[in-house]
Amino acid sequence: MIKVPKNKEENNFMVLVSAKEMIEKAHEGHYAIPAFNTNNLEWTKCILTACEQAKSPVIIQASEGAAKYMGGYKMVVDMVADLHDSMQITVPVALHLDHGTYEGAKACIEAGFTSVMFDGSHYDIDENIAKSKDIIALAHSKGVSVECEVGGIGGVEDGVASNGELADPAECKAVADLGVDFLACGIGNIHGKYPENWAGLSFDRLNEINEAVDGKPLVLHGGSGIPFDQTSKAITMGVSKINVNTELQLVFADATRKYVEAGKDLEGKGYDPRKLLKPGCDAIIAKAIELCEAFGSAGKA
Ligand SMILES: [Zn+2]
Repeated sequence: MIKVPKNKEENNFMVLVSAKEMIEKAHEGHYAIPAFNTNNLEWTKCILTACEQAKSPVIIQASEGAAKYMGGYKMVVDMVADLHDSMQITVPVALHLDHGTYEGAKACIEAGFTSVMFDGSHYDIDENIAKSKDIIALAHSKGVSVECEVGGIGGVEDGVASNGELADPAECKAVADLGVDFLACGIGNIHGKYPENWAGLSFDRLNEINEAVDGKPLVLHGGSGIPFDQTSKAITMGVSKINVNTELQLVFADATRKYVEAGKDLEGKGYDPRKLLKPGCDAIIAKAIELCEAFGSAGKA
């Protein structure tokens, strides 16, 4: 039976949920919600397949660059909501904007995202606070959850580099007090691949921030490749959302390279995209399930 929603926007909100409740439950239950970045139809299907199988709540997120690549914010909303419906997904799914600009966050709230990040970490703290406040008010008026960032994250995200300084606990408290739903802060984490000589997460700073924000759920960016003993310890200290982007890209690329290097695309109809992309997709599913288990979210939906 084909369901015909009375109104498309209403339908999106029916199937996709705000990230607030799932993150608060994770915070209380001492596990973290995986936030996987999507790039296209395959990524989205694989993330949904993995999390349904693992019975894990999930945040599917897109950067502004990835959303542009996919055809725009509305396309991303429609794709995720429609897949959620046609795949008959039963676990809670939030659609989140990753590292949004002020204008991008507003546009995503309008387009039907159920959660947004406003990243004002490159502004001075007063301007970051003023802009964060605006986005929080607008998002909350529509039932959309909000993540803000203090202090920058190491590495490069969509061309914006930062030196990965440790966030200032007093600044974290100032932004937490605005009523943000969850807060990203630098604790030595880095976007992209971790260098060999990486010093690891700063648990001293995480502890100071966790005390300063008085129970506000924290977000760990750059979750690809952090050893699980460190993510587990971070979860006990208030981290309730862990972002993973690079790791799924690496396993997809690796599996696809092996397929091509083995000459499988030249055998029969091995060039068919449904065959060509399958090893990479299977690798994404396996890695996403492994991460749900490592973050403790498996079985929580
Ligand atoms: Zn990030």
